[in-house]
Amino acid sequence: MGSTTHRRWLGVVAVCVLAVTTSATTPRAAQDRNQDDEQQVGQEVFDELRAKGEIVASSPLYEQLQPIAAAITRTAQPRYNHPFRFYLVHEQQPNAFATPGGNVYVTDSLMYFVKNTEQLAGTICHEVSHTIHHDSMHLIEKERQVERRELGAAILLGPSRAHVLAIVLIGKLRSLGYSRDAESAADLTGADVCAASQYNPWGLVWLFQDFDKADTAQIPQLLSDHPDNQHRVDALKQHFRDAPSVFGSFSSDTASARALSVPKNAAEVFLR
Ligand SMILES: [Zn+2]
Repeated sequence: MGSTTHRRWLGVVAVCVLAVTTSATTPRAAQDRNQDDEQQVGQEVFDELRAKGEIVASSPLYEQLQPIAAAITRTAQPRYNHPFRFYLVHEQQPNAFATPGGNVYVTDSLMYFVKNTEQLAGTICHEVSHTIHHDSMHLIEKERQVERRELGAAILLGPSRAHVLAIVLIGKLRSLGYSRDAESAADLTGADVCAASQYNPWGLVWLFQDFDKADTAQIPQLLSDHPDNQHRVDALKQHFRDAPSVFGSFSSDTASARALSVPKNAAEVFLR
């Protein structure tokens, strides 16, 4: 979700087939050929999370995450120029966040927090939409007042510069997050992505509504940052009404939600 997903860091859980293949096993030199600034910053964040031991290399939780991630990837990939990869990360706060370059991180605690498949899918669709919108790069540029042209190509960026930007990004994702407009835009694109992936986009609405009922300490940071969940819910409902041919077939009734069967206290092996 807008807020739910990105603010805090997580521990990544990944079933990892999707995610680890390139980032973890491809020699850096081989990756460099096709890198641009987004990919480079994303790699730096990945390296930072891995160094902290947060990225989950294997866990039964991936069995729930992977089919959803795969379906969403099929729909979203044509809209982004780097491969989407999904990782579980280990963190107390339910959250998810996307970084430049296509990596999407889902905290293990979010897997336990969501009530159903649609809420998890909605969160992932929202995060993927931030990537499609290049929001995290915009965040870096805005906060650091770095103009796009200064970032330039990877060859101009360089590893040390990318590392600095990655650290900045991690801080931003954990603290300020995105603007209200960026969140709302990610909600609407996320609804489109979810609908196209055959996941009921009402899952995002249900998640916001659960947040309003939840203990404040348990609310995913990304959702709690903006005290305007009702505004986001209203915007989503209007979006659904505006395109009945796309959204009309999806039920707003939570009774239609599909259960998400997540093993309790699933074992996690961390990527080192
Ligand atoms: Zn967001």
